[in-house]
Amino acid sequence: MRQKSPVMRKCISCRTTFDRNNLLKITKDHKLGIMLNQGMGRSAYICKSKKCYTDSKLKKKLQKALKSIIYHDFFDIFEREIANYK
Ligand SMILES: [Zn+2]
Repeated sequence: MRQKSPVMRKCISCRTTFDRNNLLKITKDHKLGIMLNQGMGRSAYICKSKKCYTDSKLKKKLQKALKSIIYHDFFDIFEREIANYK
C-alpha cells in the first residue's frame, strides 16, 4: 500500500517545516480554549527540539499565532508534556 504523503507544518519558533506528527500542536478551540494536541480551530505548531519548546519568546509567538491570550495553566500542561521529550 502506498503511504500517504505527510502533512507538513511550520514550527513557530525556528520556522522549519516538519511532518505534523513530529510537532506539538497548540489549538485554540472554539469552545474549550487553548489545547495541546487536541481541539478544533486555529492551530500553531512547535517542533520537539529543546531550543524551540524552551524558547523564552514562545508565549508571545503563540499568542500572536493564535491571536489569543494564553494563560499560565496552559503552560503547566505544556511543561508536563515536554517533560516527556527531555
Ligand atoms: Zn522549532
